[in-house]
Amino acid sequence: LRRIGVLTSGGDAPGMNASIRAVTRTALYHGLQVVGIRRGYEGLLEGDFVPLTRSSVGGILLHGGTMLRTARCPAFMRPEGINAGVSKLRENDIDALVVIGGDGSFRGAKELHDRGIHVVGVPGTIDNDMAGTDCTIGFDTACNTALECISKLRDTASSHDRMFIVEVMGRHAGFLALETGVACGAEFVLIPELPVDLEAIANKIHYAKQRGKTHSLIVLAEGVMSASELAEKLKGHCDYDPRIVVLGHLQRGGAPSCFDTVLASRLGAAAVEALIDGKRGMMVGRTKDEIVTVPLETAWTQHHPLDSDMLRLVETLSI
Ligand code: ADP
Repeated sequence: LRRIGVLTSGGDAPGMNASIRAVTRTALYHGLQVVGIRRGYEGLLEGDFVPLTRSSVGGILLHGGTMLRTARCPAFMRPEGINAGVSKLRENDIDALVVIGGDGSFRGAKELHDRGIHVVGVPGTIDNDMAGTDCTIGFDTACNTALECISKLRDTASSHDRMFIVEVMGRHAGFLALETGVACGAEFVLIPELPVDLEAIANKIHYAKQRGKTHSLIVLAEGVMSASELAEKLKGHCDYDPRIVVLGHLQRGGAPSCFDTVLASRLGAAAVEALIDGKRGMMVGRTKDEIVTVPLETAWTQHHPLDSDMLRLVETLSI
């Protein structure tokens, strides 16, 4: 192993820069050269490469986004695209690759592995929807960002006797909604993993209002339905005219939290060490505070379950 590449791909997540820095510095520490590949697989196909040095990853540790930028690359979903990626890596003497991204990016990484490229994946997505790790880079920061926004909404909701429906990200998973819902004391948390009972929601709101509760907060995962759709469905069935807020891409930005910065640093370093140890086609993750190395496909073939205690907690604490 002489020269490794690193790229960020798919949706950006706070902490990706800390990972790029950790990959680069760990590789340099072990006497390897590092090449940054800009804009994920798109940049790989275009040969958009930049040498990374100790100083070129200086000052980025606590910056949101990704200095290598990221992209979605439809061409990489086809065999010709993947083969072209393999050729680009070989032409540029890149012996191994660290892919920082979500499960889509890992599927691409697995294709490279199947064609003989040495790859290790670092899980980075705010959605936390990957198995093989208890938490992905960016999730903690996104929860904190959502919480900050929702606590502001709570102030105005209680002053004006309003009901807010706050739509949070998470793709097909409810991790972000559940975590922020518990943290902000939402009356309801709606997640794709559970059926939505509109009548039960309307009833609970009604009785809460009768008991003197003057406002209500619903945290809705985007994977269930849109906030406007839910507002439409609830109209006429509940005692409020719901206001909707879609937090959207706000959740993807901002400086990484302490937790994410440490996680990203540990996983970035572990990815390079895994490559040095001869591990191939693997992802690094954090399970019960241990850094683990498991096959890349774990991310999408295994199930990352929601914590059922957390679901019960929403129910218990929102009486
Ligand atoms: P994320 O990595 O955040 O899950 P995406 O699902 O958009 O984001 O995937 C990022 C990129 O990874 C895609 O644009 C594509 O280039 C590549 N990719 C995704 N799925 C595959 C696949 N099955 N085979 C090859 N490449 C893939």
